[in-house]
Amino acid sequence: MNSGYMFKPRIAENDSGRIEASSPQAQARRAQREIELLGHEVQRLYMITEAMWLLLKQHTDFSEEQLKDIVNEIDLKDGVRSHLAPASEVRQCSSCGRTISIRHTSCIFCGEFICVK
Ligand SMILES: [Zn+2]
Repeated sequence: MNSGYMFKPRIAENDSGRIEASSPQAQARRAQREIELLGHEVQRLYMITEAMWLLLKQHTDFSEEQLKDIVNEIDLKDGVRSHLAPASEVRQCSSCGRTISIRHTSCIFCGEFICVK
């Protein structure tokens, strides 16, 4: 099975290096088309992610809680919480101010020990 096929982006690269004269209407149509393609790509990736999670749940003992934990951990890798991690599961490091998971006992960025009250 060639699994590479499924995970390749379906969006064709545009010729961004080429300068083309086009009307604002043509540019707007192109932008609209790109938005539609991105929407389809997001849907496809969402479907693949959901399928992978269903397979994992069926064949392993992983729980939804473990999935949430790992998503939070990945979300917080840059120290900024996106909307993926619920506010109840994060806090600010008192030393460096970055956002970290409530499950960590020390800051993953500066090493500050986090006092749990
Ligand atoms: Zn810190």
